[in-house]
Amino acid sequence: MATLPKQANAVIIGQGGIVGASVAHHMIGHGWDGLVGLEASAIPSDVGSTSHASDFCYMTSHDKMSCYTTTYSQRFYEARGHYNRIGGMEVARVDDDARMEELKRKVGSGKAFGTNAHLIGPSEAKERFPLLEEGLIQGAMWDPDAGLVVPRSQRVAGELVDEAVASGRLQAFANTPALAIDVHDGRVQGVETHKGYIATPVVIVTCGIWGPLVAGMGGAHLPLMPVEHPLLFFGPYDAFAGTGREIGYPLFRDQGNSAYLRDTGDPSTSEGGQIEWGYYEPTEPRLVYPQDIASKEEARLSPSMRDLDADQVMSAYERALEITPVLGDLGWDEKSSFNGLLSVTPDGGSLVGESPETRGLWFCEAVWVKDGPGMGKVFADWISLGRPELDPHGIDIARFYPVQKTRGHVYDRCLETARKIYDPPVHPREPYESGRNLRRSPFWPREQALGGYFMEAGGWER
Ligand SMILES: Cc1cc2nc3c(=O)[nH]c(=O)nc-3n(C[C@H](O)[C@H](O)[C@H](O)COP(=O)(O)OP(=O)(O)OC[C@H]3O[C@@H](n4cnc5c(N)ncnc54)[C@H](O)[C@@H]3O)c2cc1C
Repeated sequence: MATLPKQANAVIIGQGGIVGASVAHHMIGHGWDGLVGLEASAIPSDVGSTSHASDFCYMTSHDKMSCYTTTYSQRFYEARGHYNRIGGMEVARVDDDARMEELKRKVGSGKAFGTNAHLIGPSEAKERFPLLEEGLIQGAMWDPDAGLVVPRSQRVAGELVDEAVASGRLQAFANTPALAIDVHDGRVQGVETHKGYIATPVVIVTCGIWGPLVAGMGGAHLPLMPVEHPLLFFGPYDAFAGTGREIGYPLFRDQGNSAYLRDTGDPSTSEGGQIEWGYYEPTEPRLVYPQDIASKEEARLSPSMRDLDADQVMSAYERALEITPVLGDLGWDEKSSFNGLLSVTPDGGSLVGESPETRGLWFCEAVWVKDGPGMGKVFADWISLGRPELDPHGIDIARFYPVQKTRGHVYDRCLETARKIYDPPVHPREPYESGRNLRRSPFWPREQALGGYFMEAGGWER
């Protein structure tokens, strides 16, 4: 086994996830060498969110950066033979006009930012996705480029690291957690591990849900909270037996019920012969403090997979039976269902760029699988050339003032973003309800008296 080098041009912490792997790949594309990757567990990750993500990619979003990173990622996965462009839909139920309006807005944003999403009627939706109760929906958004990373994003992460190591520019160390980050005069100096100390001017944190803990080692605050995401499996489902397919029908989202669904294809494929059903809790999502994530030894399944209680999902499951009755015909596989942990942030955006607290400490955090390679490119452009192709203000870690990084504020805002992952539909300009009135101008009482309506930016009521 290679010994840990004493020096590196940059150290990537969290090498085994899709984000760490994508960052290394794209930095090497910019000519970086002397990189060292540290991973607390296996490479590819067997404990992080990447190890059990659903691996959906939808191109559509209300922000240009996400459309850019997802489209880039989709093409990246596809060029490597790891993408099934099966298409995906989002439906609006007959009694949910607000969702229909949101689908129209999404198509508008999608058109503005270069995606191919468009609206379709109930009969076309049924034709594309035969498991649907057509009479229950008023319309749908169809994204022809949506699809699935196959066989898994975890496999892609492993391949990217293997290639980076084979290039001679990265040395990757599994089972080697970063224990401390050495900082002097506000600047990163090195990283401590149980295998030794590595001197480096650049440390890159790509630790997903563990990010705040590692940021803290370097004297920085990362405003991020892990949240539980229930994922359930139903089966056996053998509609695609003998086809060899990883997925047979398009991806399906019923966000009015805060849920999504997909089949897992031929029973003979890696996780085939089931229906996977995911849910984002819209009222009381369960946030978990990063320090409370179980260790690998303590966790029954994995640190990022927590036990799931059927009561947690029962009312949404009953509504799901109405629109996709197939679920009722299949048995719930309690053993393989779980609460996965993923990252939420105070404004829903990723956390990328150099820490304002500590020079040389960089982040690429709170990144979905659908954005992994794209955000790896944005990151590598930024650290190598000084700026990415698109204005990064919406993902820049420096967008938060200290008052927005306090424990209570981060918790409340993350709770609010977690509530809004799917439902209710959120207008892109909708102000946050929590964490308000942190900063008011001297004119605030007068404006209030005159009936002013307040938005918030940077903690200021405006
Ligand atoms: C159930 C579920 C379904 C999901 N479905 C989708 C989906 O359909 N589409 C989508 O786009 N996204 C999905 N996601 C989200 C997605 O999985 C994550 O956003 C993504 O995998 C994050 O990747 P990452 O590389 O940042 O983090 P991770 O995969 O968590 O990797 C972080 C790595 O950092 C390592 N690490 C932590 N601390 C240290 C340390 N001190 N030293 C060294 N290494 C350390 C960990 O061991 C881990 O391997 C889903 C998530 C879950 C939980």
